Amino acid sequence: MTTTCPLCESVRLGPSHPDHIAELAESWVRLGEHQGPRGWCVLVAKEHVEHLSEWAPARQAALFDDVRRVASAIRAAFPTSGRDGPPRINYECLGNVVPHVHWHVIPRHADDPRPRETVWTWPREALRGGLAPADRADLVLRLRATLERRS
Ligand SMILES: [Zn+2]
Repeated sequence: MTTTCPLCESVRLGPSHPDHIAELAESWVRLGEHQGPRGWCVLVAKEHVEHLSEWAPARQAALFDDVRRVASAIRAAFPTSGRDGPPRINYECLGNVVPHVHWHVIPRHADDPRPRETVWTWPREALRGGLAPADRADLVLRLRATLERRS
């Protein structure tokens, strides 16, 4: 699709995207820009679609299976965050800023400063987090390895 959609651009980059974690059935998995909640991942639909309801149910289910796999990998990648991984995972398919279906899969760790609120209420700096580039790269590798071990 020849638009200025930033997520179509992300799709076009495929595995060369700097935050690339994995390619799944219906999505590309990226480490989220924001890492206040460490391990925040974004799944970008491989095809530009504005409304999930435009896809047949089987395809929607396949995309949600990608989401499930990423959530499972995030929980496994942070085994000491809670009793058995982060106590909560938030799933958000918003589209308010970029109308190309994408899912935010957001771990809410045991040390979450506002566990009862959506992360979007966090101050900007807290949301962004302070991960150094090398730590981001390490996290990408850890999540990729965990995702590959779990199906
Ligand atoms: Zn798009």
